[in-house]
Amino acid sequence: MTFPYTRLRRLRKNPVLRKMVEETAISVNDLVMPLFVCHGSGVRREVQSMPGNYQMSVDNVVKECKRLYDIGIKAVLLFGIPDKKDETGLVAASDDSIVQKAVRSIKKELPAIFLIADICNCEYTTHGHCGTIVDGDVDNDLTLETLAKQSVSFARAGVDMVAPSDMMDGRVGRIREELDVKGFPDLPIMSYSAKFASAFYGPFRDAAGSSPGFGDRSSYQMNSANSDEAMREIALDIEEGADIVMIKPALAYLDIVSRAKDEFNIPVAAYNVSGEFSMVKAAAAKGWADEERLVREILTSIKRAGADIIITYHAAEIASRLH
Ligand SMILES: [Zn+2]
Repeated sequence: MTFPYTRLRRLRKNPVLRKMVEETAISVNDLVMPLFVCHGSGVRREVQSMPGNYQMSVDNVVKECKRLYDIGIKAVLLFGIPDKKDETGLVAASDDSIVQKAVRSIKKELPAIFLIADICNCEYTTHGHCGTIVDGDVDNDLTLETLAKQSVSFARAGVDMVAPSDMMDGRVGRIREELDVKGFPDLPIMSYSAKFASAFYGPFRDAAGSSPGFGDRSSYQMNSANSDEAMREIALDIEEGADIVMIKPALAYLDIVSRAKDEFNIPVAAYNVSGEFSMVKAAAAKGWADEERLVREILTSIKRAGADIIITYHAAEIASRLH
């Protein structure tokens, strides 16, 4: 039955009805806020390319977690900015490394907040690559060992979930094995399963000081042109024991999010990355677009594509508008 009997505009006229038939709604429960922890005290340095995001010392991160929790953001993803780096990133596996310190302090003040720790070496290596370099490239199997040690150290500090972002082959299995052996069989793994080599990470590297000193990451992060390969990565991570799989970035990869949701029966996360955030901020600052409407539309599109969890730098600002 078609026009004039079928008129889809009937459902759009009344705002109450419009809301009743709304198919996708974002909630604070879907959102994770990334935070950058650094050494010192009283430090709160704004990241120039990411307005409203800061490198914070542990005391300020604790305060920020309380503020976020109060406005409904109950999960954060922690990135560390260390005061010393080394060749392999093993410095991150020391129990008094910066993220571990932050985890202990946050959990002491606010045990209910859900802490996720990013697992990777690039913030901790002198060369800025995600693992141990052998003959000019990241050695896969050597890197697995530092990642496994880092995971256990984070677990001991009290994180609620680990999130490996390095894209080495076999890392989920190796981390799972090490966590189980060391007494953390219940700690979930959210794997950055399909992480694409992307220009959208630019501002993050400002924030985390993790730009590679030579070359790029295309020997381990995925080619942005590939979708079948993303499904293979996700399937392998699930086989190795991932509890949640992630697609990163989000906006230019919504087809991957959608395909992952269709093909696998597992929670899917999407990372609305720094470059996606900064584009919105830049356009809003120039008065070219309405920031809140942009953010709502972007987050809704990520959820509509199939993401159960959205990691986003917009989380703090949008939270109070979502009730
Ligand atoms: Zn990395």
